[in-house]
Amino acid sequence: MALKLKIAIIGQSNFAADVLELLLERSNVQIVGVFTIPDKGSREDILATTAAAHKIPVFKFSGWRRKGVALPEVLEQYKSVGANLNVLPFCSQFIPMEVIDGAPLGSICYHPSILPRHRGASAISWTLIEGDEVAGFSIFWADDGLDTGPLLLTRQTNLEPTDTLDTIYKRFLYPEGVKAMGVAVDMVASGTAPKITQTEVGATYDPAMFKVENQMINLQQSAERIWNFVRGLDSVPGAVATVIEADGTEEQVRLFGAHLYSAGPVSNGQPLRLKGLTKPAWIHSAGLLIEGTDGAFVNIRRIKRGSKVIGASDWFKQADQQPITDFTDDELAKRTLLAGIWQAILKDEIEASTDFFAAGAGSMDVVRLVEEVKEAFDVPLENEQVFMAPVFEEFFGLLVRIIRQGSGGAAGQQLDFEGFTLRANKREIRVPTQLFINGEFVDAEGKRTLDIVNPTDEEVLCQVACATANDVDKAVQAAHSAFYGSWKQISSRQRGQLMLNLADLMERHKEELATIESVDSGAVYTLALKTHVGMSIDAWRYFAGCCDKIQGSTIPVNPARPNNVLTFTRKEPIGVCGLITPWNYPLMMLSWKMAACIAAGNTCLIKPAQTCPLTALKFAELTVLAGFPPGVINVLPGKGSEAGQAVADHQLVRKLGFTGSTPVGKHIMKSCADSNLKKCSLELGGKSPLIVFADCDMDKAVKHMSSVFFNKGENCIAAGRLFVEDRIHDEFVRRVLKDLRTMTIGDPLNRSTAHGPQNHKAHFDKLLDFCQRGVAEGAQLVYGGCRVPNLKGYFFTPTVFTNVTDDMYIAQEESFGPIMIISKFNGSDVDSLFQRANRTEYGLASGVFTKDIGKALSFADRIEAGTVFINVYNKTDVAAPFGGFKQSGYGKDLGQEALNEYLKTKCVTVEY
Ligand code: NAP
Repeated sequence: MALKLKIAIIGQSNFAADVLELLLERSNVQIVGVFTIPDKGSREDILATTAAAHKIPVFKFSGWRRKGVALPEVLEQYKSVGANLNVLPFCSQFIPMEVIDGAPLGSICYHPSILPRHRGASAISWTLIEGDEVAGFSIFWADDGLDTGPLLLTRQTNLEPTDTLDTIYKRFLYPEGVKAMGVAVDMVASGTAPKITQTEVGATYDPAMFKVENQMINLQQSAERIWNFVRGLDSVPGAVATVIEADGTEEQVRLFGAHLYSAGPVSNGQPLRLKGLTKPAWIHSAGLLIEGTDGAFVNIRRIKRGSKVIGASDWFKQADQQPITDFTDDELAKRTLLAGIWQAILKDEIEASTDFFAAGAGSMDVVRLVEEVKEAFDVPLENEQVFMAPVFEEFFGLLVRIIRQGSGGAAGQQLDFEGFTLRANKREIRVPTQLFINGEFVDAEGKRTLDIVNPTDEEVLCQVACATANDVDKAVQAAHSAFYGSWKQISSRQRGQLMLNLADLMERHKEELATIESVDSGAVYTLALKTHVGMSIDAWRYFAGCCDKIQGSTIPVNPARPNNVLTFTRKEPIGVCGLITPWNYPLMMLSWKMAACIAAGNTCLIKPAQTCPLTALKFAELTVLAGFPPGVINVLPGKGSEAGQAVADHQLVRKLGFTGSTPVGKHIMKSCADSNLKKCSLELGGKSPLIVFADCDMDKAVKHMSSVFFNKGENCIAAGRLFVEDRIHDEFVRRVLKDLRTMTIGDPLNRSTAHGPQNHKAHFDKLLDFCQRGVAEGAQLVYGGCRVPNLKGYFFTPTVFTNVTDDMYIAQEESFGPIMIISKFNGSDVDSLFQRANRTEYGLASGVFTKDIGKALSFADRIEAGTVFINVYNKTDVAAPFGGFKQSGYGKDLGQEALNEYLKTKCVTVEY
């Protein structure tokens, strides 16, 4: 028959409160009183609150004895409850023997180590510090406070290498400890509780770790002992180390997140002197690397500096960005309010070092925090900012920065850069002119610059930094760190949100971007607005939506019976990607590639064409305002032969996305193979055939002169060669010429202009040369072929050649300019026509105008080109895959397929 127990619970904290609730479920137990610590300010210990909720008498004593003698009034109150068993689940006070022995059945006490090892107040810490293989707890018959009383029961678990003081407490000592207290009480009730005398074999009494002098780490020991010491104090209070600054000043810091590091010394770290170490430690991309006396390494992921916990790898960056110390009274009042919001969510006391996630918050808590903070402080805030500043003091600092800056941008960031003011299109636009590396605008090595020329007036517009191979290396290192660091922390959905933020910012700045593009590249403003910028925004939005839809598949494979097998694939980002783009649609080429690359989860650097890098630099500024972490996107104007080549050669770049000419594409492919066999996709030149059958809608066919003259012919899919059926040839040419004569040529910023200047002088000169070769080979130049008379700037007259035969240079090679090349064909010989259309090494695009759907679809079947337009031309869309065949390259931009260019497939097989 079980005894009726009248229990006094003496203790504090959630642990004691959970034990109380567990015991209340037992029918043979009556909790007659709860004895706990006094309130801290207005905050009552949770044990008291829980007891009061169950209408159990609560007593709060600041101490039980004075000068070694039990306080009579305290003793009297204790006796008044008439307990026959004392249960001490977690007790920080010294309980006099009159109480311990005062209950007829005695006192049972929880202790978080396997006694007799680690007696004393910091038993869990010492279990880790001493490198024990097992951790556990004891429930013993309480003694005079030295943890020597007889044992009632013990429980143990293996210590995992990933365990810290926090994890071992949360995963075992707490949950199993609460249950075991119930078991112990049951054993007492049934009279089966043993009293096993503790042996002295293996007994230790360890110092209390709440004393700061005991928290100092000794770095003169093996890496394993350093690791164990740090995890034994993680997350509270943290191992103390001393950093010696370059000027000799010392700063005490606390270390967290230790793990053994077997990848060896780092090559790209910065030295940091720590007191007690003879060699320097290293700040590197994954933290702080410390070498133990045995030559092995331990890596520290987080450092607490003052009240702020930072990523250890950010040590030097954080030194640049001083923490805010001059809080106003109003800001301090906001701090209290903010702490209240955190406390309500985490249901725990909030300290400067409280980590939102370590305290148990999940994704819904992030949403709640963001919404409550936005409402309380009227600030813009995104979920990802919580992930970037998860520690309370950090988060408060972030909040204050946002409040001080007003609502300037989603991430509340401010940017310093050197630039120039473009005064055009009734606007004044600040345009950065430096390289953009790791979230900052910086000069190129040696302050090298490129002259940027306005093609409309041939004047130098500004100087832009010109990246060297070393600058490329810095950007790659930044992208590499971001890929394995901050970018990994951001979920795919948050990534999509950042991309949407960016698209919104581009939309808000679209007139500025189109103006820059127009001045820099000569694009007609209206086209720049609609296509160069408009389609760029569409690309960012389209791929933003793809971020959280990147999925693998489950694959049925043959199991080895009797086992079963699960095989599935994961689509993973490749890593650091290099992007190299041409000058014809500077922002759009950037966006087509980069949006897919970023959506897939990669980091990148882009080398835009040296002649017109300005929209890429303005774009870089917007990425900061959108909230992209440093290093994810880097922009490096420079020369192809140097900066571009360095990207193709770099060992850490794992994928190269290239758009440009076929000869450079071939060269790049070799570099990709020779360097590190990086994956590459090549969007190269074209000489796209367009066939106009006599049965077509002639008005429509002529209207689609854009197939050739769109964006001044600087269009990779421009119809490089027209085949016009002989029956309508002369009429077609007549109508084209009629339209050309009325085409408005001039300042691209003028809204009525249809045709602007060519992009740059070398290209302009090549077009003159191209036309001269056509004439020399006997083609008939029926219009243009020369500079627009009386106009400064690289204005090339739209040009038409007829009587072009298949063997001519102008029939074979791309002009990339406003030059229409027309050949005749006879409608009775469609088969030969299709062969002629395919008689080119290019295979980018193609088109056909006919009302005969059979003829049109046969053409689509037989043409060797990545894109086919029927009764339309230049109709591209961000959702439709785009890319060439044959020597127009391989790989796709745009559409779902583009994502695959920036992903790799991993196949996982599990046997069960
Ligand atoms: P390009 O001369 O091939 O240059 C393209 C890019 O490559 C530029 O940024 C260039 O730098 C860089 N580059 C040059 N040499 C390099 C090297 N050794 N290593 C790495 N990068 C290097 O082409 P472009 O004249 O700028 O553009 C016109 C060509 O692009 C045309 O053939 C056109 O058809 C093609 N294109 C194709 C597509 C498509 O989707 N298929 C789209 C647009 C354009 P610099 O700035 O220093 O020259």
